Amino acid sequence: MQLRRILMSPKRGDELKIAVRTMYLPSQYMQGKGAIYYLGQKARPYGNRAYVIGGGKALAAAGDRVRKSLESNGIEVAKWDDSVKECTHATINRLVDSGKHANAHFVVCVGGGRAIDTAKAVAWKLKIPAIAVGTQCASNADASSESVVYTEDHKFLEVMALSRNPVMVIEDTEIISKAPVKYMVYGMGDALSCKFEGEAYAKARAKKKDGIVPTGAALALGDACYRSLMEHGVAAITDLKNGIHSHAVDEVIEAVKLSSALAFENTGCALAHALHNGLTRTGLVMGEHGEIVAYGTIVQMIYEGRPKEDIRNVISWCDRVGLPTKLKKMGNPSKSALKQAVEYASEKDHNAHNMPEKVKPSDLLAAMDSLERGV
Ligand SMILES: [Zn+2]
Repeated sequence: MQLRRILMSPKRGDELKIAVRTMYLPSQYMQGKGAIYYLGQKARPYGNRAYVIGGGKALAAAGDRVRKSLESNGIEVAKWDDSVKECTHATINRLVDSGKHANAHFVVCVGGGRAIDTAKAVAWKLKIPAIAVGTQCASNADASSESVVYTEDHKFLEVMALSRNPVMVIEDTEIISKAPVKYMVYGMGDALSCKFEGEAYAKARAKKKDGIVPTGAALALGDACYRSLMEHGVAAITDLKNGIHSHAVDEVIEAVKLSSALAFENTGCALAHALHNGLTRTGLVMGEHGEIVAYGTIVQMIYEGRPKEDIRNVISWCDRVGLPTKLKKMGNPSKSALKQAVEYASEKDHNAHNMPEKVKPSDLLAAMDSLERGV
């Protein structure tokens, strides 16, 4: 019956239900020192008029290189906007309106998650390709085909499924390694979740038999991301703090920017993000997205009954890179706030449906308790 409805009037996202195995991918990913200088050459097949959109800081740091690379390849900068502060519908619509008259052939999205998500949505609404240029490592938005939309005061509103990834993703490691170290810590915290959430999602799909099957490739990327973080994460943070751009730094950038992006968007979020959403809704939990997700990942591992040795490894890794593993490092929310958070995470948050079994608030609270007491 559902298949018939889909065939008669397909909606966005339906292809995931009938095509059994689907994978969203960018056409090319480039990473390395000076990779930004390839921008113009790589963008040429997409046209000769660029609409450059980014955050103020990102374009102050990388804007000259973006412009030079485009112009030296015969691409005109038809419009330049460095005003993005937050990914809101109002900003997206304003940039779409002003972009309509520029007749740009593609959008160059420059910056961190908020600027990239905004610019990707603008490109999608203008029906032209997006090219993403990351300037820091806090987010895995660059390669993905989704934009996370917030209110003006940074409250989560919705995820826009764009149904198309950026055609090019360029990560200049020289630029990224000069961004504040904390950004890489946050990016790793968010990326840590993709293996565990992806595996839970795959189990849930197999159990619920709803026709959606994630690719083995997406699950393998989640696993590769996790292994890389465990192997190189601590060294990368130590090296960045000492101003060294090392092999470990490059490995972590790839784990966050490529592996985790393709893993998360080709599987689904689960308990770690559900708990993040429950905790942040209380207004009493402090921390960046990646910090709270890392904590949520450990809780999910305990909830799932993963081997103690694996859980302890992740806790010790989080401690060493500077991600929170205890509630006292996240504002020490009250018991009633925690109760409210687990109820929301288990019953209302859509990500909880990607767990193989119905999540029980009491079990989730018990998993959090056990993390507080020490695994
Ligand atoms: Zn996340």
